[in-house]
Amino acid sequence: MSLPEVLAGLREAEAESNRPPGSVRLVAVTKGQGLAAIREHVLAHAGLQPGGFPLGEGRAQELRDKVAEFAAVGFTGTEWPEIEWPGIEWHYIGPLQLNKVKYMRAVTLIHALEDVRQAQALADAAAKWGRAPDVLLQLHNGEPQKHGVPPENLRAVYEGVAATGLTVRGLMVMAPDTGDEAAVTRVFADTARRAHDLGLGELSMGMSGDYPLAVRAGATLVRVGTRLFS
Ligand SMILES: *Cc1c(COP(=O)(O)O)cnc(C)c1O
Repeated sequence: MSLPEVLAGLREAEAESNRPPGSVRLVAVTKGQGLAAIREHVLAHAGLQPGGFPLGEGRAQELRDKVAEFAAVGFTGTEWPEIEWPGIEWHYIGPLQLNKVKYMRAVTLIHALEDVRQAQALADAAAKWGRAPDVLLQLHNGEPQKHGVPPENLRAVYEGVAATGLTVRGLMVMAPDTGDEAAVTRVFADTARRAHDLGLGELSMGMSGDYPLAVRAGATLVRVGTRLFS
C-alpha cells in the first residue's frame, strides 16, 4: 500500500458514512522510519492534503533526533524542489514520560495525554518555550496493561488538564487487539460519544488495520504507519 491508496480508502469511508471529503486528516506515523523513506513515502505526497501530513512519532528520543535531523536538512523547499512543502507539523502519539517532556518543543499536538501530572509538566515547559502544544486525552480501552484514562475518571482528568491552561482538543483511543470488528467499532463509537459529551471535536482513532471502521465511527484524525511504507 501507499499513501495515496490509504487516502483513497479514507475518502471512500467518508463517503460511505455521509461525511464530507476531508473531514478526516491523515497523520503519517513515521516511527522507525528514516528521513529518506519519509521523504519518498510521505513528503512527496504532501500536496494531497491541505497543510500536508502531520508526522506522528511515538518515541521521545527518536522524535528529538528527527526534529534535529530535519532542521539540519533545512526544509525550506529548495533542497527538495519536487516537493510542495508546507513545513512539518509534528505530532507525538506515544505515552508521555515526565522526563521526556523537554523533547516536545516542536510538537503541535500530543495525542495520548493520560493524567494531570503530565499536563502540568507540559504546561510548565510550554511557559518557557513561549508556546504550548494542544492535547488529546487517551481513553483507556478496557484491556488490562494498556495506557489511557479510565472512563470513570475522564471528566475529572479533562477538567484538571484544562485547568493547567493547555487546550484539550479531543480524545484518542487504541482499538482492542481483536479481529472482532463489532468490538472495535463499539470502542470507537463509545469514544466518539464521550468526546461529544465533553464538547470535544477531535477524535484520534484508527491505524493501518482499522482506519475505515474508525472513520465510520467519526474519527477526525487517523494514525497510519505500516500501510504507508509497505
Ligand atoms: C505505531 C502506532 C500507530 C500506527 O500503527 P500502524 O499499525 O503501523 O498503522 C498508531 N498509533 C500509535 C499510538 C502507534 O504507536
